[in-house]
Amino acid sequence: MTDRTLALAVDFGGTKVEAGLVDSDGVVLEGTRFRNPTGGASTSEQLAEAVRGVVRSALATVPAGVTLAGAGIGSAGPIDVDNGLVSPLNLPVWRGFALRELVQAEVPGLHVEFRMDGLCIALAEHWVGAGRGYDNVMGMIVSTGIGGGVILQGRAVQGPTGNAGHIGHVEVGGFDDTCNCGGVGCVEGIASGPKTVAWAQRQGFTGSTGEDLAAAYAAGDPIAAAAVERSGRAIGQAIASATALDDIELVAIGGGFSRVTPDLFDHIRLAIAKRAQFGFVTKVIVVPSALSDAGPLIGAAALIHRNELVR
Ligand SMILES: [Zn+2]
Repeated sequence: MTDRTLALAVDFGGTKVEAGLVDSDGVVLEGTRFRNPTGGASTSEQLAEAVRGVVRSALATVPAGVTLAGAGIGSAGPIDVDNGLVSPLNLPVWRGFALRELVQAEVPGLHVEFRMDGLCIALAEHWVGAGRGYDNVMGMIVSTGIGGGVILQGRAVQGPTGNAGHIGHVEVGGFDDTCNCGGVGCVEGIASGPKTVAWAQRQGFTGSTGEDLAAAYAAGDPIAAAAVERSGRAIGQAIASATALDDIELVAIGGGFSRVTPDLFDHIRLAIAKRAQFGFVTKVIVVPSALSDAGPLIGAAALIHRNELVR
């Protein structure tokens, strides 16, 4: 037990914050994972308390005699990586909030790494997920938002501010949906779970959640089918554009809405296949995440256990 190398992992997002202990095989230790809600209605102090709460709960489970190798933090973007600041699009009370400092104060003296959550997802897929064995990988989450990160030639792509890989704010042709970032036609503004449901509602769908839409799809509802097709097409166009830019080999997609129906992936692949003259684009493999819902935590831990990828 005591020879195990453990990292504290923290994943901070627009609907929840989680913390847990992850070993050097990328396994979240049973009984060490804790979750608090966040959400756009929270005050700044409530958000800070939510973070402290999960961190303290996870730290309390560290086995006797074990010294943590470090703490990895993944956060919803945008971030300011050098200064450890976060400005999550859907949490307007935090603009330039010192999240890294908040966590560091709970683990004095411990090595802390801080990156965008999308990058953490890509690291997790590359490390122990669907991207194992591939050096040019994009990890994506399709959930309440759409996020991602990119590994090229075996190295994490980060950029000077730490925000490289924001696939959710890549524009896709043929759509004019507005996005919270100020843009028009961003894939997040079209194909996230809530945006897909909202589009379906405008066509007469009476459900209100992604689960409702999934059930309607499974029952053969034509509006649900059209909504899934539309979102898959937008996601596929975004992946095709990213692949044209970066020559990506494999994209692994997780997140609650990515599981609305396996058919979503067929629509994604059809949109990519339209780039028929570009074999280097159509070659991209698109698969479901192999990480369950612990991917973001595993990725945050990868910042410690696979630190060479982000240095
Ligand atoms: Zn946007």
